[in-house]
Amino acid sequence: MPVSAIRVRRLCTELSGVARTSELAELGVDAYSLRLAVDAGEVVRLREGVYGVADLPAEVQTAVRHGGRLGCLSRLGIDGVWLLEQPASVHVAMMRTGRRRFHSECRCITHWSDSRLAGPAVALDEALVQVLGCRGEEEFFVALESAMRKRLITRSGIERIRSRVPKVHRGLVGFARWDADSGLESLLRLRLRAHGLALASQIDIPGIGRVDFVLGDRLILEVDGKQNHVDGFDSLIGTEHARAAAASKRHKDLVRDAVAAAYGFETLRFDYALVVHDWPLVEAAILAKVDRGLHLRSRVAGRGR
Ligand SMILES: [Zn+2]
Ligand SMILES: [Zn+2]
Repeated sequence: MPVSAIRVRRLCTELSGVARTSELAELGVDAYSLRLAVDAGEVVRLREGVYGVADLPAEVQTAVRHGGRLGCLSRLGIDGVWLLEQPASVHVAMMRTGRRRFHSECRCITHWSDSRLAGPAVALDEALVQVLGCRGEEEFFVALESAMRKRLITRSGIERIRSRVPKVHRGLVGFARWDADSGLESLLRLRLRAHGLALASQIDIPGIGRVDFVLGDRLILEVDGKQNHVDGFDSLIGTEHARAAAASKRHKDLVRDAVAAAYGFETLRFDYALVVHDWPLVEAAILAKVDRGLHLRSRVAGRGR
């Protein structure tokens, strides 16, 4: 009696979604049953001797076809970790003893690993360590704080990361917080850290309301459009509704900046694209204010109020 296609699928699921023919054989699934399950669309053949459940995410399937497991940025993406840049290809973790397979449309980025890997994707902490080597400090730090904010990682996971990253980057792990409000905040805090500048986010200022960031005592940083990709605001641009909304927002921003100035605050306003893609300009604008001490409460008495 062949094993039913549904049961083959269930056994595959219990084996983390991906199973070797030998593992399935031990559970009583013969080659004929396996073929029936493939024909029924319950499982797919990923490479010779390896099968996966049909609804396995496409990136995971690619990683297994490549001969490894989903790793690095691609692994983080599965859990919705915030990334500065979405990966254009699938990042695959391979054991050093493993063999790379050539499959159709392979644009994979291979990461070699010494650790024993199990399952179709590496652990989150391993993926974060890979990101540091692959994309560098900023992408690593932003992803780490996102994983912490979403509670996808535990304190012991953080410790494992700290012990595995090169010594020079350990301070970066220590600098990461559990309560960063957004990826943008992580990026700004990291970039300003190089100048010894601390940043507070989502601060309520009496008379003004909630502002995105405050640098020092009184330099407000507002970053517009940071939610664009989430809210689908982009798709509204060009419509009458969007123009009216933009005009009304601009008026509100001007009022806010005037009120902030009246209370002795300085305001710098950027948009998300400027912060991410034109940092030298943003940095120069911030440092020009900081160099004149405009972020600190004035020590000289003003005209009095
Ligand atoms: Zn990578
Ligand atoms: Zn590949």
